[in-house]
Amino acid sequence: MTAAVSTGPLLADGFGRRFPYLRLSLTEACNFSCSYCLPDGYQADGRPRFLEVDEIGRLVRAFATLGMHKIRLTGGEPSLRRDLDQIIERVAGTPGIRKVAITTNGTLLPRRLPGWHRAGLTALNVSMDSLRRERFHAITGHDRLPEILEGLELAQAIGLPSVKLNAVLLRGLNDDELPAWMEFLRERPLSVRFIELMRTGDNADYFQRHHLSASTVVEQLLAAGWRLRPRAADAGPAREYTHPAHRGSIGVIAPYSQDFCQGCNRLRVTARGDLRLCLFGEFGVPLRPLLQHDDDRDALLARITTQLGLKAAGHGLHQGRTGLTPNLASIGG
Ligand code: SAM
Ligand code: SF4
Repeated sequence: MTAAVSTGPLLADGFGRRFPYLRLSLTEACNFSCSYCLPDGYQADGRPRFLEVDEIGRLVRAFATLGMHKIRLTGGEPSLRRDLDQIIERVAGTPGIRKVAITTNGTLLPRRLPGWHRAGLTALNVSMDSLRRERFHAITGHDRLPEILEGLELAQAIGLPSVKLNAVLLRGLNDDELPAWMEFLRERPLSVRFIELMRTGDNADYFQRHHLSASTVVEQLLAAGWRLRPRAADAGPAREYTHPAHRGSIGVIAPYSQDFCQGCNRLRVTARGDLRLCLFGEFGVPLRPLLQHDDDRDALLARITTQLGLKAAGHGLHQGRTGLTPNLASIGG
């Protein structure tokens, strides 16, 4: 991986926010059927194929030229891409890229993680909504918690620089597990993030039943002696809490809190190459036509920078507007 290169000034929008971070979806397909995301599983729709390695290479080179240095590979389930090792290698080898992260449901970790690590992966986020096997099965539709725990052990044994867990906070389904998580983190130097359930186009009823404010977690953490870690100026949206008796930390990601969008530091590109300025934005900007030849690089850079001027100050979730997003698998959550 190349550490220092001359890249352009960091992308900024009309509100002075800077964007060091791209979330790139590699596929909309998934082998899980999480009840809040794809309750009926992934249904292929016959539209054009997902971005190929060369297209991804051109895309990432353009964003790196504009000063971006962190790429997160997501989906759908990114580990379903057979060419994932090659994709990671291409992204990690792009001048200017310092961090290559993946968000995965973790089912393929035991088999595939060593290859991803060799290819240049630096950070791993694994989604794990429950520590209880039967609940995990009920939420995701698959009884695969033991393999995921095995994959986590492997990640730590390999010495991956950053390993984090994501758990969506679900009223009545997993909201009594905070004490178990605290215990889990006593000896494990991992970070767990509780994410507030977001309303998307497809999950309105589910959202009504299971959304819970992250403030309930924060109250319990403070009562148990956990304290907010001071935030770096360029920190993302998570607020992290630590406790002297625990090696791990606990974060909350609360998209419904009022100041959430002020800290936005990321852009998204869908698996078919549309730039999305906001997870809940009303439009996508097709970049794929400009990813076919190296010669289109200047036009690609111009399209990205022009579009960034249109990024809105915040999402419309409080008004029930979920934009174009039927579920997070469709855009790369
Ligand atoms: N399949 C991978 C995974 O589950 O980690 C990556 C894609 S998934 C869409 C990315 C993250 O979004 C996961 O942590 C998932 O739990 C979260 N997610 C999906 N739908 C969500 C929703 N409606 N609200 C909050 N988080 C959601
Ligand atoms: Fe698949 Fe991730 Fe959505 Fe679950 S949250 S259905 S693992 S894309």
